[in-house]
Amino acid sequence: MVWVNDDCICCSACVAHAPEHFDLDDEGRAEVVAQPTTHPQWVLCQQAADLCPVEAIRLAKPEPLTQPVTERA
Ligand code: SF4
Repeated sequence: MVWVNDDCICCSACVAHAPEHFDLDDEGRAEVVAQPTTHPQWVLCQQAADLCPVEAIRLAKPEPLTQPVTERA
């Protein structure tokens, strides 16, 4: 699961990087509009989280996706 906490400062960086997953709500804060379901989508959301200047994007990955890519079949 991916979510945005109250620290969002409405910079739009996540929306610019991953518009499939993030959008701004009526108050200008980011919200998750589509949860990631594939590994590439998780990577995209992780990249958006890394871009967030206030670490407002939180990720709780399903267990298989917490393993390093090199260890997965
Ligand atoms: S990158 Fe972070 S601060 Fe900027 S809009 Fe997204 S959640 Fe908010």
